[in-house]
Amino acid sequence: MTQTHCPYCSLQCGMTLERAGRTLEVQAWPEFPVNEGALCRKGWTATGLRGHRERLTTPLVRDRETGEVRATGWDEALDLVAGRLRELRTSYGADAVGVFGGGGLTNEKAYQLGKLARVALGTSQIDYNGRWCMSSAASAANRAFGIDRGLPFPLADVEQTDVLVLVGSNLAETMPPAARHLDRLRANGGHVVVIDPRRTPTADRADTFLQPVPGTDLPLALGVLHLLDAMGAVDEPYVAARTTGWDDVRRAVAAWWPERVERVTGVPASSLRALATLLAGADRAMVLTARGAEQHAQGTDTVLAWIDVALALGMPGRPFAGYGCLTGQGNGQGGREHGQKADQLPGYRMIDDPAAREHVARVWGVPAATLPGKGRSAYELLGALGTDGGPKALLVFGSNIVVSAPNATHVASRLADLDLLVVADIVMSETAALADVVLPVTQWAEETGTMTNLEGRVILRQRAVAPPEGVRSDLDVIAGIASRVGAPVVFETDPEAVFAELGRASSGGRADYAGITYDRIREENGVFWPCPTDDHPGTPRLFASSFAHEDGRARFVAVEHRGPAEPVDAAYPLHLTTGRVLAQYQSGAQTRRVRELPDDGPFVELHPMLADRIGAHDGEPVVVTTRRGELKAPARVVDTIRPDTVFVPFHWVGANRLTNDALDPVSRMPEFKVCACAVTA
Ligand code: SF4
Repeated sequence: MTQTHCPYCSLQCGMTLERAGRTLEVQAWPEFPVNEGALCRKGWTATGLRGHRERLTTPLVRDRETGEVRATGWDEALDLVAGRLRELRTSYGADAVGVFGGGGLTNEKAYQLGKLARVALGTSQIDYNGRWCMSSAASAANRAFGIDRGLPFPLADVEQTDVLVLVGSNLAETMPPAARHLDRLRANGGHVVVIDPRRTPTADRADTFLQPVPGTDLPLALGVLHLLDAMGAVDEPYVAARTTGWDDVRRAVAAWWPERVERVTGVPASSLRALATLLAGADRAMVLTARGAEQHAQGTDTVLAWIDVALALGMPGRPFAGYGCLTGQGNGQGGREHGQKADQLPGYRMIDDPAAREHVARVWGVPAATLPGKGRSAYELLGALGTDGGPKALLVFGSNIVVSAPNATHVASRLADLDLLVVADIVMSETAALADVVLPVTQWAEETGTMTNLEGRVILRQRAVAPPEGVRSDLDVIAGIASRVGAPVVFETDPEAVFAELGRASSGGRADYAGITYDRIREENGVFWPCPTDDHPGTPRLFASSFAHEDGRARFVAVEHRGPAEPVDAAYPLHLTTGRVLAQYQSGAQTRRVRELPDDGPFVELHPMLADRIGAHDGEPVVVTTRRGELKAPARVVDTIRPDTVFVPFHWVGANRLTNDALDPVSRMPEFKVCACAVTA
């Protein structure tokens, strides 16, 4: 029996894996506090990929001339990769090689991938798909609080608050075991507010549901701030003692009276007043954002506006109150802390900070001057592939770019212009199918490594079974490439040794793991960072006495609403938004292959009034068109969506051929959550 965690979302539910003959069964682990034994359908069926006929078990090399794919040995594959990388570096310089990571990789893999890029390849061109997940919340939290930990408190704190505002989160479908906290909060007499353009299963559990036009969460927050100020409900002593910048925000929200907010958001002024009154009367209030609020060209500003609401109410740092982000991918939190992000070094250190470079270089055993600087963000990196001055080769670990990137047709065309595409994956994903070299790697139950869940709790996934013959761990692959390209240091492959090195590299940084060990994680059901020493208890709750800025104060940030980068017009009169369904995860590369999970293909959700207008019928095909592409898929006619909005899930090829690649200027988050579209029957 092995205690471990689900391979999918950021809740990282605890589960037990039990061998029964040749099969591996998922069983409950009731003692793990985050999910208390509950799992969603994806978790219960998570062993479905084990032994799957599509599992990759040998390296593959594709002949560019004929397109033919042949199996090869590991040495031949890694020699080929390293040889091409060396040639490209010689011809074009170190930045000719790009590295693309994933928010599902363990902390150890994310750390080694960053080290591979900076130490072995010497390239600045590394980023990861977490840039497209919660980077706007991260940049907002860094600005407001001086630190970015998705939830600065345990998730169960939700149950003890008085008013919970969920902005753009459908947690009842995306992380169902978390919905128990909403139910308990309501049983305790608390009030749940859900803000979403769709009436989701989460909204069905709410006391108040607001349904704004996609892309208008920001002015909604400005309207709440306007009313809180007008009502005299701003916590002035808290604002004076623990924050700076309120006066700028007060001036900025003065013009956002409720009727103006109604015109922009579609939310009735009366509903806005009711929400402000509810918040003003709450002893404890909590605002949680997710992708619906964050994946916008103004995602950082949107989150900052909601943090302003929480600060105006005096909530961050109080027990059972404050602001948090519900991260998405399994290691969305840890994945951005240890160096696979273009601008960061391990420990959430910034790569342009000389002291940070010195510290990390010392741990790595190389001169700080040899470490490259900041590279391109994820979408900009992909957009530069194969161009003059852009990378000529790309190494992809744990990401299915051609399904998950915005404006995916453009991204596929960039990949086609590469001299070398290498993909490490467990199955032949849509991206692996385009690769010159495919490297088969271990999946979750076959390896040990740490993840950091949405609460900042570092947990341990433990190996339960041996991988299939021929498959290697990503850590082995990274080390194999590093040695072949002439890395000046040896790369560890044992996960526990890598984690110990990661701890040293993170020591003194914002995300300090130095006091965390595998044994402690096992004994304590996870350890919350920061945890700087062996005898430190970890930090479940942040901000009780001070924020992470040097002066200890949080920052109000005044923001203005600009609206979506691509407003609707006569040619594209509807809003398109995207999201997840319960049975699938991210690009679907893993879950679409699990037999027990329904694979309904993409569909187009639209309101009956819209369906009537265009002559569409439930179950029959409609065509969604944007300036970037089109998708033909069956209509799902539902009255839970706004009549001016269309929803497409993104787990299948198609949704992201439609989405807009406009980027947030701070986080570089693409605007996945809204663009202009047209629909025809
Ligand atoms: Fe839990 Fe998320 Fe896995 Fe479902 S997918 S079992 S909510 S970790």
